[in-house]
Formats: sequence, structure tokens, C-alpha cells
Amino acid sequence: MSNPVPPRRAPGDPWRSEGAPPPPPPRRRMPGGWWGLVLMAVAVYLLASLVASLFRTGGKEPTIPYTEFSRQVTSGNVSKIYAKDDAIEGQLKKQAPVPGGKGDYTTFRTQRPAFAEDALWAELTRQNVTVTAEPVVRGTSLLPSLLIAFAPMLLLIAVWVFIARRMGAAMGGGGVLGRKAPPRPVEVTEGKRTTFADVAGIDEVQGELDDIVDFLKHPEAYRKMGARMPGGVLLSGPPGTGKTLLARAVAGEAGVPFFSASASEFIEMIVGVGAGRVRELFAEARKVAPAMVFIDEIDTIGRVRGAGAGMGGHDEREQTLNQILTEMDGFTGSEGVVVLAATNRADVLDPALTRPGRFDRVVQVSPPDRAGREAILRIHTREIPLAGDVDLSRIARSTPGMTGAELANLVNEAALVAVKRERSEVTQSELSSALEKVQLGTERPLVMPQEERRRTAYHESGHALLGMLQPGADPVRKITIVPRGRALGVTLSTPDADRYAFTEDYLRGRIIGALGGMAAEHVVFGVITTGAESDLEQVTSLARGMVARWGMSERVGRLSAIPNDVQVAYGLSAAPATLDSVDHEMRRIVDECYESAQRQLRDNRDRLDALAQALLENETLEEDAAYRVAGITRLSKDDV
Ligand code: ADP
Ligand code: MG
Ligand code: ZN
Repeated sequence: MSNPVPPRRAPGDPWRSEGAPPPPPPRRRMPGGWWGLVLMAVAVYLLASLVASLFRTGGKEPTIPYTEFSRQVTSGNVSKIYAKDDAIEGQLKKQAPVPGGKGDYTTFRTQRPAFAEDALWAELTRQNVTVTAEPVVRGTSLLPSLLIAFAPMLLLIAVWVFIARRMGAAMGGGGVLGRKAPPRPVEVTEGKRTTFADVAGIDEVQGELDDIVDFLKHPEAYRKMGARMPGGVLLSGPPGTGKTLLARAVAGEAGVPFFSASASEFIEMIVGVGAGRVRELFAEARKVAPAMVFIDEIDTIGRVRGAGAGMGGHDEREQTLNQILTEMDGFTGSEGVVVLAATNRADVLDPALTRPGRFDRVVQVSPPDRAGREAILRIHTREIPLAGDVDLSRIARSTPGMTGAELANLVNEAALVAVKRERSEVTQSELSSALEKVQLGTERPLVMPQEERRRTAYHESGHALLGMLQPGADPVRKITIVPRGRALGVTLSTPDADRYAFTEDYLRGRIIGALGGMAAEHVVFGVITTGAESDLEQVTSLARGMVARWGMSERVGRLSAIPNDVQVAYGLSAAPATLDSVDHEMRRIVDECYESAQRQLRDNRDRLDALAQALLENETLEEDAAYRVAGITRLSKDDV
């Protein structure tokens, strides 16, 4: 199995990279930086002086009664005082004994009662007492008191700086304080890089990327010729088809550093952050050029402007996108930085992205065909001990439509089953179990009442029988009434060969088959249960496709009345009259199919009963047994 993309060094790092030269040893930094140290010192000093001042209150200078103070003034022993409101601090000319206490004092504090109607000011002037504007007692320690006065503000500033620093780190650039973050070290993966040998089943795509590999290998040759490389390549295809893998393989094949970031990781709530990250990412890539920059999920920022508000708001998305476009426009072609992007929604991308000089090459990545699936299975079983009986081509044949990621998962499931069964090798049986689990869902231990089991048996038999009766329908592979996943039973039909286009008859057959469960319950028990919910969803989407997208209704005509993009509101896509027709036609098709399903089940009631009975006895019927019980011969069997 291929080595995974290295994890990011810190969550704040906007991208991952591999294959880049080892980073210069990072400068040892104080845990919180020098700023943090200074702040810490200030904080400690503040705290200390605050505590000290608290303890000093009423410490050195005694609080004396006002009458004592009054007496000292009258006797002319007070040299100076400082008053704030009714609190008075002062100093004596010569020390006096503390009244009622022990020892003497020269400095003191006292409180003048509000009702004291003495002529204090006149008395003070008479006695030549200096009345100062500064605290007499604590006059010597002015700094701490100042600091204490400003403490709340300083604390606020400290908090602000702290937050700014955190944000600065998250932004990876000059933060709010304009402090430039140190150059970000890049990851180096030890071990093997991903190459084309790890990719299979998408040879045509690989071919399209060959000249990129060549360019990355010999950029000088291209430079000498004055040839310009395509600005960027957009890989478009369903999830799991290997787009990310392919991008890594291109870089690995060329042996150049690979920088990878997901577009959604650029976006933060703060406008401008994304653009900054993009700038940094490209700067980093240029430093080690030739290099490759890969931007995954570009549709999260590259959607047509105005369609569906994404995360982080429009401004941020647009700024980030613009920055990417600017970086790409700035390529002179000699820098040797190639940009690859991936999306599974190429249809919603802003046309500005695919203009010449930008992502002007769009490469479609599709799920693999049968041979491709076999090759992918081969790649993913390279490091798994396989028993002699394993037939990968058979697995490949029974997995049409599965993507590379699903196949990789299948192999892994099989290995897990083998471990659980304490086997030393993975045999065909483990692969079958894994396939069953992947295709049908995990078995659920659920004890069903007899009545419910019977109904489920008829429901599944209805699906299966109609599937067998429709000419050209996908053959029934397995029927089971063992509850799996959300379903009480499953009927699995897969095509013999990969299908790429579908006829109207085939689609009608699919609808009839999907309605078969409901129709069987109706015909046999005369009731309808909730068990048909997902069947009806499938029926609806098939009917909608036939009418509104594939031009299979005369009345609606050959136009796509409902676009593929679910984000576009329904009502806006066509005239109300057209949508009415769509609705009407969908109903007509489904009603016709339901009629047909019921009729066929009534006509073949004996077969339906036989299938249901066999299911109740065996719980699960494989393809051959199912056809035998129903007394139907498979028309085309394994003719691929
Ligand atoms: P995407 O980016 O298209 O969603 P990924 O590249 O992430 O798909 O594929 C996920 C995993 O599936 C890969 O790491 C790989 O193990 C497997 N895989 C997908 N496609 C292929 C392929 N064509 N050949 C080999 N392995 C594949
Ligand atoms: Mg991907
Ligand atoms: Zn069903």
C-alpha cells in the first residue's frame, strides 16, 4: 500500500509537502517568544507589587484616631499632610507614642469624620503644616502605585498581544502585529514516494500527465525551446477515483517536491488570511522549484460567483481564488512550478479558473473499467499474503462501478476478516465476505417476528423476481432476508459488464424491479409498509432523470428541465408549465411501471411463492439457487 501523505506539522500549517529538501534547523525559540518573556516579567512584577501593596496597607504607618491627629495639629507637631477626600496621611515633626498601642510613630493615617465641624484648614495654616499634593507615606514608591493604576490596561494589552500572536501563528504570516513568522520548515518523507506504479486503471489520464512529468524532470530543456507549460491541470472526477493519488504520483515520478493543500483549509473566518496562505505556499514552492503545487477540492473556493454561499463568506473565497489565479498568471513558465487541482464538481467551477493560462487542461478521471479494477486490486494486494484460490479477475468482474478507493477498502476489509478468522492468508472466501459487507452493509443481529420475516421474504422476492423477468436487466446476484445496515433484506443486482449508457427499456426495468418489493407486499398481503422508502427514492430519481434530463418523455421533450446541480433552486430551471409536465410524466411512468410490476407478480405468483419460501428456509440465496428456485434460465451468463 502506498505511503500516506505526511501529516501536517501543526494544525496551523496551511499545507503538507513531501520530497522537499530538508529544512534548515529551526531556530530555538523561547516557548512563547521573546515578547512572551517580557510580558511574563511585567506580569510577575505587577502581581508582586500588587500583593506587596495589599500587605503594606496598615503595615508601617499606624492608623490613629482623629482626635489624636487633631491634638498633634494643635500642638504643632505635624509637619506635612496629604488628604484625599476624608482620608489623611501625614508626618510628624517628632515621633509620638501611639495612643493605646505600643511604640512610637512619625507617619500615620487617619480618617476625618464627616461630622467633624472643626476649622481644620484654619488650624493647619496657623500651625504652618505643609499640605502636599503627593502621598506623604508612599511617596517613595511611586512606580508601583502607577503600575497598579495601569494594571487593568496592561493586562488587556497582554491579552490582546497573546491573541494576536496566536492568530499570527494560525495565519502563518505577519500576524496582526506585523511580526513575520519564521520560514516554515517543510516535511520530508522518508521512504518511497508514490509513483505511477501505485496507480492503475486510469492509463489515459496518466498519458495526459506524462508531459508534465517530463517538464518537471527537465525544465531547462523546455526553457531553451521557449515552450510554455500549461498553466495548470484540473483533475475532475468522482470521489475516490484516485485524483489525489495521481497528483502525488506525478510529483513522485518526476522526483520533485510536492506541496498539497485542500482549498477548504485556506478559508478562515478572517478575510485575507486565505490569500496570504496561498502567497506563502507558492513562494515556498518557487524556492525549491521545479516543484508541484496540488490544490484539492478546488470547487469549495472556485464555484461560480454568486452560487451558493460557501464557508467563510464570499469575499474570502473570492480573494483566495483570485490570489491563486494571480500566482498562476504570474508564471513565466521558467519557474518550473506546476499546479494541479482536483474537483468532483467541474460543472460548478467558475469559468475564470479554466481560462487559457490557468487550469486550461481539464482531465477527466473516471471509475476504472474491469481490467482497471483488476489492476487496482493487484496493486492493493501487493503486500497482502494471498491464498492460491484467490481470483482477482472474478472480484473485478463483480464490482462494476466501484472506484479505486472502494476497491482499496474492499481489500482492507478482506484482510481484517482474515485476521479475525485467524488465517495466515487471505482467501477468496474472505474477499467474498468483504465484498458482501461492502455491497450489502454489515449484518445486523435482529430477531424479527415471523410475520415480519414473511413480509420481508415476499418483498425481496418481488424485487428479485421482477429483476429476473425484465429482459436486459442486471442479473440478480444475491437475495437475503438477513437484516443488513438499515435494510431488513437486500436484493443485489449487478451488471455482467460495465455499462456506460442506459436505454429507456433498461431504466423502466430498473423502476419495475425497485417497485417489486412494494408490489409484492400489495399483491400478497394487501398492505403497504414503510419498508419501501429507499426503493421509492430510487424510483423517483430514475423517473426524474428519464423525464427531466435524458429526454425520454415526448411531452416534456428533449431538454434538460432540471439541472444536475442540486444547489440551483428547482423553480428557476424551467417554466412552471414545463415543471408541471415533468411532474405529470414522472407520475405516468411510475404508475405504468407499478401496474406492470403488479401484473407480472400476479401472473407469476407460483414463482414468487417459491422464492419467498426458499428465502424463509435459507435466509440467503445466491445467484444460481435463486434462478433455479424461480425456474428461470439466465439468458446471458458470464459472456464477458
Ligand atoms: P480522490 O482524490 O479522487 O478522491 P484518492 O486519490 O484520495 O481519490 O484515492 C483514495 C485512495 O484510493 C488512494 O489512496 C488509493 O489507495 C486508492 N485508489 C484510488 N484510485 C486508485 C487507482 N486508480 N489506482 C490505485 N489506487 C487507487
Ligand atoms: Mg482527493
Ligand atoms: Zn425494497
